[in-house]
Amino acid sequence: MSKVPAYTSTATIGHYVSGRMVLAETVDTQAVFNPAIGSVARKVALATRSDVDAAVASSLNAFEGWAAVPPIRRARIVNKFLRLMNENKEELAAMITAEHGKVFTDALGEVARGIDIIEFACGIPQLLKGDYTEEVSSGMDNWTMRQPLGVVAGITPFNFPCMVPCWMFPIAIATGNTFILKPSERDPSASLFMARLFTEAGLPPGVFNVVQGGKDTVDALIAHPDISAVSFVGSTPIARYISEQAVKYGKRFQALGGAKNHLVIMPDADIEQAVDALIGAAYGSAGERCMAISVAVLVGDAAERVMPRLIERVRTLKISDGMRLDAEMGPVVTREAFDRIEGYIARGVEEGAKLLVDGRNYKVPGNEGGYFIGGTLFDHVTPDMTIYREEIFGPVLSCTRVQSLEDAIDLVNRHEFGNGVACFTSDGGTAREFARRIQVGMVGINVPIPVPMAWHGFGGWKASLFGDMHVYGEEGVRFYTRQKSVMQRWHKNTQSGADFAMPFVY
Ligand code: NAD
Repeated sequence: MSKVPAYTSTATIGHYVSGRMVLAETVDTQAVFNPAIGSVARKVALATRSDVDAAVASSLNAFEGWAAVPPIRRARIVNKFLRLMNENKEELAAMITAEHGKVFTDALGEVARGIDIIEFACGIPQLLKGDYTEEVSSGMDNWTMRQPLGVVAGITPFNFPCMVPCWMFPIAIATGNTFILKPSERDPSASLFMARLFTEAGLPPGVFNVVQGGKDTVDALIAHPDISAVSFVGSTPIARYISEQAVKYGKRFQALGGAKNHLVIMPDADIEQAVDALIGAAYGSAGERCMAISVAVLVGDAAERVMPRLIERVRTLKISDGMRLDAEMGPVVTREAFDRIEGYIARGVEEGAKLLVDGRNYKVPGNEGGYFIGGTLFDHVTPDMTIYREEIFGPVLSCTRVQSLEDAIDLVNRHEFGNGVACFTSDGGTAREFARRIQVGMVGINVPIPVPMAWHGFGGWKASLFGDMHVYGEEGVRFYTRQKSVMQRWHKNTQSGADFAMPFVY
């Protein structure tokens, strides 16, 4: 490809209900920016309580019919959607770059990882097979089946406007639920586009609805009596709030929160490989990934070899509009994110960390209004500093030094978050010990961003996940279904007379 397709629509982005876009005339809206330029590109509608009621009514109306469609037929529609997603992935990626800012090749990567989950959902007949035990007692059989929950809602963050919704809706829908997505109001176009493609694939109206909005829309969804379950992905304070609201309203929930991911470099690691990994994982998507590496833990004398290479690489990052095919890093998402990240850099300096590369005041010629922050590198960061404790969610890498593997494991395990972690080493014993003892949900050994594949499931530990179940994979199937156990005996096998004791088998 020599040129990235442009996404230039200025139409107001509405909701998607019963198979079509809905936009009231007197609608309340919020601006959606192009972060590479720093100007308003389009607007998004904000759903009111009555918009939410209409979407839920549409989903509820569609539920019974959809749940009754045989799984293989549901899978065929998902399969057609998979094909359409593959055919339209470049347009979708361009849409993501235009609203999120990440570079186009990275946007294509997120679409591809979302498509993996759709592909997984095509196997739903196999995944929904129940268990069966013949003759649990004389003439009696017992089986279990998994049935859909009803209308379920998904609330997603700005940083993966295609992939994170795909963690949820393909599986929820394939298992027979109807789904209402509330995407981030900062980059809402991708969801609407996917909903249209799913309709084109043959999905009945109302099975997949999208409502746009912010806090008020989320609150209306969680409190709605006809919503059975809520999946959330976003920051930890909001994940905690969602989990509390879900408990209050008696909903099943899974709420994935923020992160502070460490990459440990042992002295025996391949240093070139480790530095490559750090650069991509810390600065890819301008650090706006929940699995981004934001802390490098340099063990023993690894620092002496890592730091000079790292400084050089951070200084020479290619930063520009993500629509340029040679860009390695684009802008951050909004002016607020820009101010927050620059505030953290100032705080790091105030608290005594050594600022080796300062990304503030970074200018991209021709894109002077864009929200660009250069790659930023701190050394000698300590666990008491704000930049170590809090999630910055920007292109800022903090380096810290420890003496041994033991110290590294202890440091990571004491952190509030437990989403992802990586260890670079050439020793199998070290790797095994690290993976076994680390208190983090997703571990990479010589892999910087260990996002599990579609059939393994994704989820962190500690303040990175509220609720019991991870998203997608078999945990996803379990989350969107509930088990029913049936015991069956036919009349002619039934002994006569009441039995007052708990039945058991001799
Ligand atoms: P966010 O928490 O601000 O927003 C997430 C969603 O919640 C959005 O749809 C937003 O509209 C809604 N929301 C915001 N404020 C709300 C409120 N007060 N009440 C109810 N709903 C509200 O997160 P974000 O800035 O969009 O995304 C970045 C965050 O998401 C980071 O913390 C990142 O680590 C996290 N994240 C986590 C994972 C994971 O798998 N653990 C994946 C992606 C992103």
